[in-house]
Amino acid sequence: MPPQKAKKIELNQDYPCPCRRRGTLRPIALTEAFGCDRCQQIFAVEDQSHTIEQVSTSYPYKRAWHWTGNRWITVNSKLGENYLPFAIGFAIVLPIVFLVLAIHLPPVPQELRIIVIILAVLFVLLPAFMLWSSYRR
Ligand SMILES: [Zn+2]
Repeated sequence: MPPQKAKKIELNQDYPCPCRRRGTLRPIALTEAFGCDRCQQIFAVEDQSHTIEQVSTSYPYKRAWHWTGNRWITVNSKLGENYLPFAIGFAIVLPIVFLVLAIHLPPVPQELRIIVIILAVLFVLLPAFMLWSSYRR
């Protein structure tokens, strides 16, 4: 991920909503917040106008975004930061374990060996897919 510079969020202009309904974020008068005309969510401007944070969210962690000038990028939550090294470690260690198993298995049916190799490949793809889906927004 190349680091993308967060631009200052102006409170006197409209922005597209980070929701997937193509809503428009409009400034809410006299507050440091935006409201979406589609999803009805409220987004508070935080971090010296560099971040918007979803207000009253039912997610286990707060969802926040930076503005890059033409789109929102998700700000890594604490959950994501903790999850990332874990996922990477998982992605490195498990396939090795599986491959070692596959190579050193005692004489077993070829099918079993293939299943173990397929599992190893799946364990590589799964964290990669999770990373991809978390950065896709
Ligand atoms: Zn919206």
